[in-house]
This record gives sequence, C-alpha cells and structure tokens, in this order.
Amino acid sequence: MKRLEVALIDVGGTLWPNSWPIRQGDAGGRSNRLIAAMDGHDRAVVEALVADLLASSKPGDEARSITTEQRMVVGADELIAGCLHRQGLVPDPSTISRIRRAMAIPVDERFQPLPGAGELLKAIRALGLRTVIASNTYWRDADSYWDDFRLLGMAGDIDGIITSVDAGQLKPHPAVFQMAMRTAGVPADRCVVIGNREDNDIEPALALGMWTILVYPDDPKPEHSRAHAVAPDLWACAKALEDMLETE
Ligand SMILES: [Mg+2]
Repeated sequence: MKRLEVALIDVGGTLWPNSWPIRQGDAGGRSNRLIAAMDGHDRAVVEALVADLLASSKPGDEARSITTEQRMVVGADELIAGCLHRQGLVPDPSTISRIRRAMAIPVDERFQPLPGAGELLKAIRALGLRTVIASNTYWRDADSYWDDFRLLGMAGDIDGIITSVDAGQLKPHPAVFQMAMRTAGVPADRCVVIGNREDNDIEPALALGMWTILVYPDDPKPEHSRAHAVAPDLWACAKALEDMLETE
C-alpha cells in the first residue's frame, strides 16, 4: 500500500477548461474593482491608472483567454509597478497585490469546471488524501482562487492553494510544488501530482520524486507520457488514484 497523503492538482486543463472567452462586462468589473482597490487616491490619477492597466494588460488577458500555462515576458507585478510609476504612485507590495487581485477576473455562476472536477476532489478526500491546488497563473494568487472555489462550491474539498504568483516561479520550475510540499508538511514521495501537461506538471513532479497522473479532459489524447497513470477524464483519474493506492 502506497502512503500517499497529498494530491497536488493543476487547474487550467485539469479542473477548469484550458480557456474561456472574455465576457462582456469583464472590463467594467475590473475598473470597479480597481477603483475600490485604490480608494483614497485622487480620482483623476486612479482613472488614468485604470486606463493604463487595462491597455498594458493585453498580453495578460491573452494568456488568460488562451492558456493559463503560457510563459509571459513581463510578470504581473512588474507590469503593475510600471503603471503605478507612470502615474507617480508608489509601487509598494501591498498596493501591487491589491491591484493584482482586482485584475484577476473572478469566475461567475455561469462558469463550469470540467466534468467530474467536484467528484474528483470528493474522491480524493474519501481516499484519505488532502488536496493542494498547484497552479500557474498570471493575476491570480491563492486568495483570488479561494474566492473562485468558494463560488463554485469546491472550497470545502480543498486544503491549500499555491500559485506561481505566490511561489514566484512558473511551473515547470519546481517552486510551486516545493512550496506546496512545505505547506502540506509532507515529503515528495507522499505526493501525487495531477495535471494536464507533461512538461509543466509531470516532468517536474517526477524530477522531485512525486507520483504522477496525466489527465486530458480538455486536451487531445497524449501520444506518450512518463506519468505513472494517464486518465482521459476526471472520473478515470479518481479510479487511477484508487488503483495507485492499492498497488504494492
Ligand atoms: Mg494545466
């Protein structure tokens, strides 16, 4: 019996679709959140800052509408600091983080996770494992994700969230998984990584000595994988995890 304790789960292409369309009202919602985040500052300066952020963040939006895994040339914090600087505002860490959260477009009630996502989280819990989200993001930090997962009714089945924003490095850099291990307080061989990308999820997990399940609920069937198990959907993933636990 394997003594797996923690499932480290990717989000884009794993629990959520790889992409979703930018919706009408996204920009307006962003402006309102940004204005609230900058409450107390001169209104004209804030309006100029919002216009600059919305114009400068096109690459971030493109990343969001195409894939959450894309490597960006300019990181979110750097982009935000540049916008603050241009308006003569101080780019201190707490302002940057408030703006980053305001820029993260939250999921809404129309948003659907991939089929079987909720069931997978419940199956992991039933198998006696904890779940830690381990995700590459551009704007989202752990707090933004907590809001999203609460709205989706999935937060109760999640024990921790680590994003590349929190870890300071994008997968395949091991920082996200290492931070998740530290947070969960377990060694690598007690972790199983569940993700849809061979390069960003499976390879760094194997290099750390973790167990791995490659899933493709929103991707073409992979031609080959070094993962311990490969599952076409999230129900099959739950079964693969159960089998993994029973294998000597
Ligand atoms: Mg992914």
